[in-house]
Amino acid sequence: MNEAMKKARDIITGYSGRPVRIMEVCGTHTHEIFRLGIRKLVPENVEIISGPGCPVCVTAVGFIDEACWLALEKDCVICTFGDLIKVPGTKLSLAGARAMGAAIKPVYSPLDAVEIAGQTPDRQVVFLAVGFETTTPSACLAVKKARELGLENFSVLTANKTMPNAYKALVGSADAFIYPGHVNAITGNAVCRQLCEEQGVSGVVAGFTASELLTALATAIRLLEKGEPFFRNCYPRVVKDEGNPGAIKLMNEVMEPCDSEWRGLGLIPMSGMKLREEFAPYDARLKFSMPKIEGKPNPACRCGEVLQGKCRPSDCKVFGKVCTPLHPVGACMVSDEGACSAYYQYAGLV
Ligand code: SF4
Repeated sequence: MNEAMKKARDIITGYSGRPVRIMEVCGTHTHEIFRLGIRKLVPENVEIISGPGCPVCVTAVGFIDEACWLALEKDCVICTFGDLIKVPGTKLSLAGARAMGAAIKPVYSPLDAVEIAGQTPDRQVVFLAVGFETTTPSACLAVKKARELGLENFSVLTANKTMPNAYKALVGSADAFIYPGHVNAITGNAVCRQLCEEQGVSGVVAGFTASELLTALATAIRLLEKGEPFFRNCYPRVVKDEGNPGAIKLMNEVMEPCDSEWRGLGLIPMSGMKLREEFAPYDARLKFSMPKIEGKPNPACRCGEVLQGKCRPSDCKVFGKVCTPLHPVGACMVSDEGACSAYYQYAGLV
């Protein structure tokens, strides 16, 4: 441990001020903070809570139902990041649809789905576009590539989300946010600064190494002690104030803001991205005249409250018993970035 890390550790362990709640709004932070043992360092008067930062976790149940509908009713090949396959829909997960004969293909990149569409011209291929500002540009790139190749059998089912309005919906949930460094690397810091200046929302941008996380947490604790709203970029080697203008331009060229349903948070106005009219032929909902499909979450699952920091995964009655990573009841137990999965793996609560 270097000097800077020791200093940060001492600030964290030595905090003796009022009780504070700090929310990490990033699934990778959730896991790294557990894995690196940082939670064990924090004193009792510092509570670290998990927010809605895992893209799979915040994807609404109805989206899974829509994907199953495309797979089973329209015989589409569904290409998706692997985590989504096990997320329960109202009645069925994509794994369940696959057991019924549907073609569900895990991919590492949206461009893989474009390639599959190119190789199977007799099948309709749909890519499930979920995620935040970090993954949305690659989905946009795939749509442009499909158009460039003249592919008529490729489309995307969008559930892309953007963070600014989610932060606003979470105001009051915590004393400070640990902002996701990879999102700010794309968006820049203007929104976080604005939240601080206009609404008194405090937060620090954090990277992902032990040193970066300790520094960010120590900075938040030190500034909370002072009692004034603050914003600090503790990940300056990657996050620039202006973000990534190229990625932002690409997103704005292909997609536009729309209202979006978040698991647990409900409908947040202008917190999603959908394809612009110019790219409508690649919008799976329009292409297949999809009816309105509303999902119903399992009533036993408390993912919604977990994602807002209102309860801990271990407060859920089925945590670790009925609901495990092998047999997840809710999305937060599926993804490696989910809070329930992190508690299950690292907290020794089972
Ligand atoms: S433990 Fe399972 S059922 Fe409970 S909130 Fe987490 S994902 Fe949902």
